[in-house]
Amino acid sequence: MTDTSNAPMFEIENLHASIEDKEILKGVDLTINAGEVHAIMGPNGSGKSTLANVLAGNPAYEVTEGSARFFGEDILELAPEERAHLGIFLAFQYPTVIPGVSMANFLRMAVTNTRKARAAASGDDRPAFTPREFRRLMREKMQLLHMDDSFATRYLNEGFSGGEKKRAEILQLALLEPTLAILDETDSGLDIDALRVVSNGVNKLAHDKMGTLLITHYQRLLNYIKPDYVHIMMGGRIVQSGGPELALELESQGYEKLRANFAVA
Ligand code: ADP
Ligand code: MG
Repeated sequence: MTDTSNAPMFEIENLHASIEDKEILKGVDLTINAGEVHAIMGPNGSGKSTLANVLAGNPAYEVTEGSARFFGEDILELAPEERAHLGIFLAFQYPTVIPGVSMANFLRMAVTNTRKARAAASGDDRPAFTPREFRRLMREKMQLLHMDDSFATRYLNEGFSGGEKKRAEILQLALLEPTLAILDETDSGLDIDALRVVSNGVNKLAHDKMGTLLITHYQRLLNYIKPDYVHIMMGGRIVQSGGPELALELESQGYEKLRANFAVA
């Protein structure tokens, strides 16, 4: 057994990944500690979604080099649900469509499964929630997030707007209380409502025990969330890191100057 007691919460090191034999990630390095909110931004095609997919364990992507360690343990060989059981939240896990399942019931199943697995792994034998306890917890989290009570009784995915899908995701995040949250904010369907839900959620839920990685395709998101660190991804690498001011600089200057500096496509 390696001694991992001093390992950072999450450390991505020299990560290379390919899809269909084309190398997309070309050596990503990133360290996240408890309590920190990190944002990754970058132009289209720079590899942001690829990074999110690799961290989530999407089998279409092949990791060819490097590691992503959670408290010293490489997660890249683990199945997506095993990553979740360690306490990593990797975006909303949609079930294959089950007709007639309400949000509340779906979340209770999802949260109970994850809790059980996490409890088993840590030797803690907290019993699963009773429906009543779960309802109370859910109500508490929904109030924290300013979500309307009626949302709990909505049927899963039936005509969900972009904002409602985001509500489901943020509520799942709130209930799971992960140690590390990795959110990939694709720009598809992210209307202003969805943007507010995500930013309000991250601002409310980020705390000193959790690390957050927000992969954003949408610069405007950073007007609502103040990350501690901003990283710019280009050509499959993080080419620059800084504080929140970096996002503002980019907003005024765009990526052109960076592109010239780093000579990447
Ligand atoms: P971003 O999210 O930063 O816009 P992506 O990770 O989606 O970037 O894409 C990075 C590069 O990988 C792009 O050049 C894109 O064309 C390529 N790519 C992404 N997905 C696939 C795929 N399924 N097959 C082939 N190439 C892909
Ligand atoms: Mg993308």
